[in-house]
Amino acid sequence: MKNHLMHKSTRTLQFNWVILTLFICTTLLSQDLNPVYKKIHLGDQVVQLKIYQKPGKNVTYAHVHENEEASLAAGLRMVGKYGGKLITLAHSTDGKTNRNVTFSYKKTVYKFDPNRIYTQDLNVLKNSISVVKGKGKVDDEIIKMVKNLADQVWMELADSPFILALHNNKNTPAEYKLRWLFWKHIEPESYNIKSYIKSQDQSSDSNKSCADIYINPALNNSEFFIVTQREDFNMLVKKRYTVVLQNDKPVDDGSMSVYASGFGKRYINAEAKLGRIEEQTTMLEILLRD
Ligand SMILES: [Zn+2]
Repeated sequence: MKNHLMHKSTRTLQFNWVILTLFICTTLLSQDLNPVYKKIHLGDQVVQLKIYQKPGKNVTYAHVHENEEASLAAGLRMVGKYGGKLITLAHSTDGKTNRNVTFSYKKTVYKFDPNRIYTQDLNVLKNSISVVKGKGKVDDEIIKMVKNLADQVWMELADSPFILALHNNKNTPAEYKLRWLFWKHIEPESYNIKSYIKSQDQSSDSNKSCADIYINPALNNSEFFIVTQREDFNMLVKKRYTVVLQNDKPVDDGSMSVYASGFGKRYINAEAKLGRIEEQTTMLEILLRD
């Protein structure tokens, strides 16, 4: 009996050691990926720029759409596995995650897409900001505030030789939507690889910014890359992954891919459907494995 008890206590001790070791390991691992926060004031609000860093690959992941959570999860996995730097924005105060940044200033509420603010052209930036509520205007003071956010984000990326942007899309089909009681309108198909193809003789901004495209018919149209350099395009074609090559004169819409290519940066955007962490991880592995 005594022997049995002793045996039991040894086993408990061993078990405790395992738990303790596991605890230390996970704590160390998560400590590795604890972000540094930079607070950026935007009117009455604060946008948190979260920066994760781990020694390893010389790549910076840019995640600017807060609600695109699958791409953030996949990116953090990659940083944990290969090292690198990842920046992400946290700005929502409603308990949800939102694509657009909303802020108030002098009783007016403003809104903008945080991937439409990277531009030297202040008119493009101005057009990216809209008034949601109130009588204020998108004046120089407001533009300056948003420009400051863009500059702070870019500062974290400017020295990186390789920017890997992380995005998710909805990829919903065209559908009828009911407005008021009788008025129906057609909501067009949302963004996907087909957005880059000239359609019904109409050139969209995406199509105008596209130099080349390769589509693997076996892949879904939500998952694809956008690259700024021919070498990356050729590499992905070889690996048979759907890819768009941005041209030399893309439409300046304030998006980071256009801004980055202006600096001659190696920039790759990995697009996957919302929620598809595994697919996006596979995509990132294609870029990082070798
Ligand atoms: Zn996005």
